[in-house]
Amino acid sequence: MLILNAHFLALFIMAPAVTSKLLIDRFGRTVDYLRISITDRCDFRCVYCMAEDMTFLPREQVLSLEEIHTLAKAFVELGVKKIRITGGEPLVRKGALELLTNIGRIDGLQELVITTNGSQLETMARDLKAAGVKRINISLDTLEDDKFKEITRTGNLQQVLRGIQAAKLAGFERIKINAVVLKNKNHQEVCNLVQYAVDNGLDISFIEEMPLGIVDQHDRSSAYYSSDLIKQDLAQQFSLVASLEKTGGPSNYFKVKGTASRVGFISPHSDNFCSTCNRVRLTVEGRLLLCLGNEHSVDLKAVLRTHPNNIESLKQAIIDAMLIKPEKHEFNVHEQPVILRYMNMTGG
Ligand code: SAM
Ligand code: SF4
Repeated sequence: MLILNAHFLALFIMAPAVTSKLLIDRFGRTVDYLRISITDRCDFRCVYCMAEDMTFLPREQVLSLEEIHTLAKAFVELGVKKIRITGGEPLVRKGALELLTNIGRIDGLQELVITTNGSQLETMARDLKAAGVKRINISLDTLEDDKFKEITRTGNLQQVLRGIQAAKLAGFERIKINAVVLKNKNHQEVCNLVQYAVDNGLDISFIEEMPLGIVDQHDRSSAYYSSDLIKQDLAQQFSLVASLEKTGGPSNYFKVKGTASRVGFISPHSDNFCSTCNRVRLTVEGRLLLCLGNEHSVDLKAVLRTHPNNIESLKQAIIDAMLIKPEKHEFNVHEQPVILRYMNMTGG
Protein backbone atom coordinates (compact mmCIF):
# COMPACT_ATOMS: atom_id res chain seq x y z
CA MET A 1 0.00 0.00 0.00
CA LEU A 2 2.85 2.36 0.83
CA ILE A 3 5.39 3.18 -1.81
CA LEU A 4 8.55 4.17 0.02
CA ASN A 5 12.16 3.29 0.46
CA ALA A 6 13.72 1.23 3.26
CA HIS A 7 14.86 4.25 5.28
CA PHE A 8 11.35 5.64 5.48
CA LEU A 9 9.91 2.18 6.03
CA ALA A 10 12.04 1.82 9.18
CA LEU A 11 10.89 5.19 10.49
CA PHE A 12 7.32 4.29 9.72
CA ILE A 13 7.43 0.96 11.57
CA MET A 14 9.18 2.42 14.63
CA ALA A 15 6.77 5.33 14.95
CA PRO A 16 4.11 5.17 17.66
CA ALA A 17 0.46 5.66 16.68
CA VAL A 18 -0.01 9.40 16.38
CA THR A 19 -2.99 10.92 18.11
CA SER A 20 -2.46 14.56 17.13
CA LYS A 21 -5.38 16.25 15.43
CA LEU A 22 -2.99 18.18 13.25
CA LEU A 23 -0.82 17.09 10.37
CA ILE A 24 2.81 17.78 11.27
CA ASP A 25 5.74 16.18 9.48
CA ARG A 26 9.18 15.12 10.76
CA PHE A 27 10.61 18.53 9.95
CA GLY A 28 8.03 20.39 12.04
CA ARG A 29 6.06 21.64 9.06
CA THR A 30 2.28 21.80 9.53
CA VAL A 31 0.28 20.63 6.53
CA ASP A 32 -2.92 22.64 6.21
CA TYR A 33 -3.28 22.81 2.43
CA LEU A 34 -4.48 19.99 0.16
CA ARG A 35 -4.53 19.94 -3.62
CA ILE A 36 -6.89 17.45 -5.18
CA SER A 37 -6.62 16.36 -8.78
CA ILE A 38 -10.19 15.37 -9.67
CA THR A 39 -9.31 14.04 -13.12
CA ASP A 40 -6.18 13.21 -15.10
CA ARG A 41 -8.01 14.08 -18.33
CA CYS A 42 -7.78 17.37 -20.14
CA ASP A 43 -8.98 19.08 -23.30
CA PHE A 44 -5.47 20.55 -23.83
CA ARG A 45 -2.13 18.78 -24.30
CA CYS A 46 0.34 21.42 -23.06
CA VAL A 47 3.84 20.55 -24.18
CA TYR A 48 5.39 20.90 -20.70
CA CYS A 49 2.66 18.87 -19.01
CA MET A 50 1.86 15.94 -21.28
CA ALA A 51 3.16 13.88 -24.14
CA GLU A 52 1.15 14.26 -27.34
CA ASP A 53 -0.22 10.75 -27.10
CA MET A 54 -1.48 10.12 -23.59
CA THR A 55 -3.23 7.16 -22.04
CA PHE A 56 -5.63 8.13 -19.29
CA LEU A 57 -6.74 6.10 -16.29
CA PRO A 58 -9.60 3.61 -16.67
CA ARG A 59 -12.73 4.56 -14.75
CA GLU A 60 -12.42 1.86 -12.06
CA GLN A 61 -9.05 3.23 -10.97
CA VAL A 62 -10.42 6.72 -10.49
CA LEU A 63 -11.93 7.95 -7.23
CA SER A 64 -15.67 8.57 -7.37
CA LEU A 65 -16.99 12.03 -6.52
CA GLU A 66 -18.27 10.66 -3.20
CA GLU A 67 -14.85 9.19 -2.38
CA ILE A 68 -13.16 12.52 -3.15
CA HIS A 69 -15.62 14.27 -0.85
CA THR A 70 -14.98 11.78 1.98
CA LEU A 71 -11.24 12.26 1.62
CA ALA A 72 -11.60 16.05 1.63
CA LYS A 73 -13.68 15.81 4.80
CA ALA A 74 -11.05 13.63 6.51
CA PHE A 75 -8.33 16.16 5.68
CA VAL A 76 -10.38 19.09 6.95
CA GLU A 77 -11.04 17.22 10.20
CA LEU A 78 -7.25 16.95 10.47
CA GLY A 79 -6.74 20.69 10.22
CA VAL A 80 -6.59 21.33 6.48
CA LYS A 81 -7.91 24.86 5.92
CA LYS A 82 -7.45 25.30 2.21
CA ILE A 83 -8.28 22.97 -0.67
CA ARG A 84 -7.35 23.57 -4.30
CA ILE A 85 -9.21 21.58 -6.93
CA THR A 86 -7.07 20.87 -9.97
CA GLY A 87 -6.31 18.18 -12.54
CA GLY A 88 -5.89 17.50 -15.49
CA GLU A 89 -8.56 19.99 -16.30
CA PRO A 90 -10.94 19.87 -13.32
CA LEU A 91 -13.84 21.48 -15.15
CA VAL A 92 -14.07 18.71 -17.76
CA ARG A 93 -15.00 16.14 -15.11
CA LYS A 94 -18.74 15.46 -15.06
CA GLY A 95 -20.16 16.49 -11.70
CA ALA A 96 -17.28 18.90 -10.92
CA LEU A 97 -19.64 21.70 -9.87
CA GLU A 98 -21.61 19.46 -7.54
CA LEU A 99 -18.38 18.18 -6.00
CA LEU A 100 -17.09 21.72 -5.50
CA THR A 101 -20.36 22.75 -3.87
CA ASN A 102 -20.20 19.80 -1.48
CA ILE A 103 -16.53 20.36 -0.60
CA GLY A 104 -17.21 24.09 -0.11
CA ARG A 105 -19.78 23.17 2.55
CA ILE A 106 -17.40 21.08 4.68
CA ASP A 107 -17.35 22.51 8.19
CA GLY A 108 -13.98 24.02 9.03
CA LEU A 109 -12.75 24.54 5.46
CA GLN A 110 -11.72 28.18 5.13
CA GLU A 111 -10.81 28.39 1.48
CA LEU A 112 -11.83 26.54 -1.66
CA VAL A 113 -9.86 27.51 -4.76
CA ILE A 114 -9.35 26.05 -8.21
CA THR A 115 -6.73 25.93 -10.97
CA THR A 116 -8.08 25.72 -14.51
CA ASN A 117 -6.95 26.18 -18.09
CA GLY A 118 -9.93 28.52 -18.56
CA SER A 119 -11.51 26.66 -21.46
CA GLN A 120 -14.84 26.10 -19.66
CA LEU A 121 -15.03 29.37 -17.75
CA GLU A 122 -17.17 31.22 -20.23
CA THR A 123 -20.10 29.01 -19.24
CA MET A 124 -19.06 27.92 -15.75
CA ALA A 125 -17.53 30.97 -14.00
CA ARG A 126 -20.75 32.16 -12.34
CA ASP A 127 -21.66 28.68 -11.12
CA LEU A 128 -18.17 28.23 -9.70
CA LYS A 129 -18.52 31.43 -7.72
CA ALA A 130 -21.94 30.32 -6.50
CA ALA A 131 -20.42 26.95 -5.50
CA GLY A 132 -18.19 28.76 -3.02
CA VAL A 133 -14.93 29.00 -4.98
CA LYS A 134 -13.18 32.11 -3.67
CA ARG A 135 -10.11 32.48 -5.84
CA ILE A 136 -9.19 31.09 -9.19
CA ASN A 137 -5.90 30.47 -11.01
CA ILE A 138 -6.04 30.42 -14.79
CA SER A 139 -3.18 29.17 -16.94
CA LEU A 140 -2.15 31.48 -19.77
CA ASP A 141 1.33 31.25 -21.27
CA THR A 142 0.96 33.48 -24.31
CA LEU A 143 -1.28 36.13 -25.88
CA GLU A 144 -0.57 35.01 -29.44
CA ASP A 145 -3.07 32.66 -31.11
CA ASP A 146 -0.53 30.57 -33.01
CA LYS A 147 1.79 30.20 -30.07
CA PHE A 148 -1.12 29.26 -27.83
CA LYS A 149 -1.96 26.46 -30.26
CA GLU A 150 1.69 25.42 -30.37
CA ILE A 151 1.98 25.23 -26.57
CA THR A 152 -1.42 23.72 -25.72
CA ARG A 153 -1.64 21.69 -28.96
CA THR A 154 -5.45 21.66 -28.83
CA GLY A 155 -6.42 24.88 -27.04
CA ASN A 156 -8.05 28.05 -28.34
CA LEU A 157 -6.70 31.34 -26.98
CA GLN A 158 -9.82 33.41 -27.67
CA GLN A 159 -11.99 30.94 -25.77
CA VAL A 160 -9.68 31.22 -22.75
CA LEU A 161 -9.61 35.03 -22.93
CA ARG A 162 -13.40 35.05 -22.98
CA GLY A 163 -13.30 32.71 -19.99
CA ILE A 164 -11.07 35.15 -18.09
CA GLN A 165 -13.51 37.98 -18.78
CA ALA A 166 -16.37 35.78 -17.51
CA ALA A 167 -14.38 35.08 -14.35
CA LYS A 168 -13.84 38.80 -13.83
CA LEU A 169 -17.58 39.44 -14.18
CA ALA A 170 -18.38 36.62 -11.74
CA GLY A 171 -16.55 38.57 -9.02
CA PHE A 172 -13.95 36.19 -7.53
CA GLU A 173 -11.85 37.65 -4.71
CA ARG A 174 -8.72 37.32 -6.81
CA ILE A 175 -7.86 35.90 -10.19
CA LYS A 176 -4.29 34.86 -10.88
CA ILE A 177 -2.71 33.99 -14.19
CA ASN A 178 -0.15 31.15 -14.17
CA ALA A 179 2.43 31.19 -16.94
CA VAL A 180 5.07 28.51 -17.45
CA VAL A 181 7.99 30.22 -19.18
CA LEU A 182 9.99 28.36 -21.83
CA LYS A 183 13.07 29.87 -23.44
CA ASN A 184 12.55 30.75 -27.12
CA LYS A 185 8.91 29.73 -26.92
CA ASN A 186 7.20 32.41 -24.80
CA HIS A 187 9.96 34.06 -22.76
CA GLN A 188 9.77 37.08 -25.06
CA GLU A 189 6.21 37.69 -23.87
CA VAL A 190 6.69 38.15 -20.14
CA CYS A 191 6.19 41.96 -20.31
CA ASN A 192 3.05 41.59 -22.45
CA LEU A 193 1.64 39.08 -20.00
CA VAL A 194 2.24 41.39 -17.04
CA GLN A 195 0.67 44.27 -18.98
CA TYR A 196 -2.36 42.07 -19.66
CA ALA A 197 -2.60 41.26 -15.94
CA VAL A 198 -2.31 44.96 -15.00
CA ASP A 199 -4.91 46.03 -17.58
CA ASN A 200 -7.35 43.46 -16.22
CA GLY A 201 -6.66 43.91 -12.50
CA LEU A 202 -5.24 40.36 -12.16
CA ASP A 203 -2.20 38.85 -10.45
CA ILE A 204 0.28 36.75 -12.38
CA SER A 205 2.82 34.07 -11.45
CA PHE A 206 5.68 32.91 -13.61
CA ILE A 207 6.65 29.27 -13.16
CA GLU A 208 9.94 27.56 -13.97
CA GLU A 209 9.19 24.33 -15.83
CA MET A 210 9.48 21.22 -13.67
CA PRO A 211 10.79 17.90 -15.01
CA LEU A 212 7.70 15.75 -14.40
CA GLY A 213 7.20 12.94 -16.89
CA ILE A 214 8.96 12.50 -20.20
CA VAL A 215 7.88 15.06 -22.77
CA ASP A 216 8.77 14.63 -26.42
CA GLN A 217 8.27 18.09 -27.87
CA HIS A 218 11.18 20.03 -26.40
CA ASP A 219 14.38 19.62 -24.42
CA ARG A 220 13.67 20.84 -20.88
CA SER A 221 17.26 21.73 -20.18
CA SER A 222 17.53 24.12 -23.13
CA ALA A 223 14.05 25.54 -22.50
CA TYR A 224 14.96 26.53 -18.93
CA TYR A 225 14.43 30.24 -18.34
CA SER A 226 15.09 31.29 -14.76
CA SER A 227 12.98 33.62 -12.62
CA ASP A 228 15.98 35.97 -12.38
CA LEU A 229 16.03 36.37 -16.16
CA ILE A 230 12.30 37.09 -16.14
CA LYS A 231 12.82 39.74 -13.45
CA GLN A 232 15.53 41.37 -15.56
CA ASP A 233 13.20 41.42 -18.58
CA LEU A 234 10.33 42.90 -16.55
CA ALA A 235 12.57 45.60 -15.10
CA GLN A 236 12.77 47.16 -18.60
CA GLN A 237 9.09 48.06 -18.41
CA PHE A 238 7.85 47.76 -14.82
CA SER A 239 8.90 48.73 -11.37
CA LEU A 240 8.53 45.68 -9.11
CA VAL A 241 8.44 46.30 -5.37
CA ALA A 242 9.24 43.31 -3.16
CA SER A 243 6.22 42.35 -1.10
CA LEU A 244 6.47 40.79 2.34
CA GLU A 245 3.12 39.19 1.72
CA LYS A 246 3.31 35.38 1.82
CA THR A 247 0.47 33.15 0.76
CA GLY A 248 2.01 30.08 2.42
CA GLY A 249 2.96 28.94 -1.06
CA PRO A 250 6.15 28.80 -3.10
CA SER A 251 5.56 32.15 -4.82
CA ASN A 252 7.70 35.17 -4.02
CA TYR A 253 5.53 38.21 -4.65
CA PHE A 254 6.23 41.68 -5.98
CA LYS A 255 3.81 44.56 -6.41
CA VAL A 256 3.74 46.22 -9.80
CA LYS A 257 4.27 49.83 -8.74
CA GLY A 258 1.25 52.06 -9.34
CA THR A 259 -1.12 49.15 -10.02
CA ALA A 260 -3.27 46.67 -8.10
CA SER A 261 -1.46 43.67 -9.60
CA ARG A 262 1.14 41.40 -8.04
CA VAL A 263 3.74 39.35 -9.86
CA GLY A 264 4.84 36.06 -8.32
CA PHE A 265 7.74 33.77 -9.14
CA ILE A 266 7.61 30.04 -8.57
CA SER A 267 11.22 28.97 -8.87
CA PRO A 268 11.70 25.29 -8.06
CA HIS A 269 15.19 25.33 -9.61
CA SER A 270 16.61 28.72 -8.72
CA ASP A 271 15.02 29.30 -5.29
CA ASN A 272 14.16 26.19 -3.30
CA PHE A 273 10.99 26.76 -1.29
CA CYS A 274 10.68 23.38 0.48
CA SER A 275 11.45 24.54 4.03
CA THR A 276 8.07 26.28 4.29
CA CYS A 277 6.08 23.59 2.45
CA ASN A 278 2.58 23.30 3.91
CA ARG A 279 0.88 21.10 1.33
CA VAL A 280 0.21 17.60 0.08
CA ARG A 281 -1.50 16.38 -3.08
CA LEU A 282 -4.14 13.78 -3.75
CA THR A 283 -4.18 12.19 -7.20
CA VAL A 284 -7.39 11.07 -8.83
CA GLU A 285 -6.38 7.44 -8.24
CA GLY A 286 -6.34 8.21 -4.53
CA ARG A 287 -2.59 8.36 -4.10
CA LEU A 288 -1.48 10.86 -1.48
CA LEU A 289 1.69 12.51 -2.77
CA LEU A 290 3.79 13.94 0.02
CA CYS A 291 6.00 15.99 -2.31
CA LEU A 292 5.68 17.23 -5.87
CA GLY A 293 9.26 16.29 -6.63
CA ASN A 294 9.47 12.84 -5.00
CA GLU A 295 7.66 9.55 -5.54
CA HIS A 296 6.72 8.98 -1.87
CA SER A 297 3.03 8.25 -1.69
CA VAL A 298 0.33 6.45 0.25
CA ASP A 299 -2.56 4.62 -1.36
CA LEU A 300 -5.57 6.18 0.35
CA LYS A 301 -7.99 4.64 -2.13
CA ALA A 302 -7.06 1.20 -0.77
CA VAL A 303 -7.72 2.38 2.80
CA LEU A 304 -11.02 3.92 1.76
CA ARG A 305 -12.22 0.86 -0.14
CA THR A 306 -11.05 -1.60 2.54
CA HIS A 307 -12.76 0.34 5.34
CA PRO A 308 -15.73 2.06 3.71
CA ASN A 309 -17.67 4.32 6.08
CA ASN A 310 -14.75 4.41 8.51
CA ILE A 311 -13.31 7.89 8.32
CA GLU A 312 -11.13 7.28 11.41
CA SER A 313 -8.94 4.68 9.67
CA LEU A 314 -8.57 7.06 6.77
CA LYS A 315 -7.53 9.83 9.12
CA GLN A 316 -4.98 7.58 10.83
CA ALA A 317 -3.49 6.65 7.43
CA ILE A 318 -3.18 10.36 6.59
CA ILE A 319 -1.53 11.13 9.94
CA ASP A 320 0.90 8.23 9.44
CA ALA A 321 1.72 9.46 5.95
CA MET A 322 3.26 12.63 7.39
CA LEU A 323 6.21 10.48 8.47
CA ILE A 324 7.30 9.99 4.89
CA LYS A 325 7.00 13.58 3.73
CA PRO A 326 10.47 14.24 2.29
CA GLU A 327 12.52 17.25 3.30
CA LYS A 328 12.81 18.64 -0.22
CA HIS A 329 12.25 17.98 -3.88
CA GLU A 330 14.98 16.48 -6.06
CA PHE A 331 14.44 18.32 -9.34
CA ASN A 332 17.34 18.64 -11.72
CA VAL A 333 16.43 20.33 -14.95
CA HIS A 334 19.59 19.10 -16.65
CA GLU A 335 18.93 15.39 -16.07
CA GLN A 336 16.33 12.99 -17.39
CA PRO A 337 13.32 13.17 -15.05
CA VAL A 338 13.36 10.79 -12.11
CA ILE A 339 9.68 11.52 -11.59
CA LEU A 340 7.83 9.64 -14.28
CA ARG A 341 4.33 10.85 -13.47
CA TYR A 342 3.12 13.77 -15.52
CA MET A 343 1.83 17.03 -14.05
CA ASN A 344 -1.74 16.18 -15.06
CA MET A 345 -1.53 13.14 -12.72
CA THR A 346 0.19 15.11 -10.00
CA GLY A 347 -2.28 17.95 -9.70
CA GLY A 348 -0.29 21.14 -10.17
N1 SAM B 1 -5.47 22.14 -16.29
C1 SAM B 1 -5.35 23.14 -15.31
C2 SAM B 1 -4.40 24.24 -15.73
O1 SAM B 1 -3.70 24.06 -16.72
O2 SAM B 1 -4.38 25.27 -15.06
C3 SAM B 1 -4.94 22.60 -13.96
C4 SAM B 1 -3.89 21.53 -13.92
S1 SAM B 1 -2.29 22.03 -14.47
C5 SAM B 1 -1.40 20.54 -14.28
C6 SAM B 1 -1.78 23.08 -13.12
C7 SAM B 1 -0.64 24.00 -13.40
O3 SAM B 1 0.53 23.23 -13.58
C8 SAM B 1 -0.79 24.88 -14.61
O4 SAM B 1 -0.62 26.23 -14.25
C9 SAM B 1 0.31 24.43 -15.53
O5 SAM B 1 0.80 25.48 -16.29
C10 SAM B 1 1.33 23.88 -14.55
N2 SAM B 1 2.24 22.89 -15.13
C11 SAM B 1 1.95 21.81 -15.86
N3 SAM B 1 3.06 21.11 -16.16
C12 SAM B 1 4.09 21.78 -15.61
C13 SAM B 1 5.50 21.57 -15.56
N4 SAM B 1 6.08 20.52 -16.14
N5 SAM B 1 6.25 22.47 -14.88
C14 SAM B 1 5.69 23.54 -14.26
N6 SAM B 1 4.37 23.78 -14.27
C15 SAM B 1 3.58 22.93 -14.94
FE1 SF4 C 1 -4.16 20.25 -19.35
FE2 SF4 C 1 -3.41 21.95 -17.46
FE3 SF4 C 1 -1.76 20.01 -18.28
FE4 SF4 C 1 -2.28 22.01 -19.90
S1 SF4 C 1 -1.25 22.16 -17.92
S2 SF4 C 1 -2.31 19.82 -20.45
S3 SF4 C 1 -4.34 22.48 -19.43
S4 SF4 C 1 -3.65 19.71 -17.23
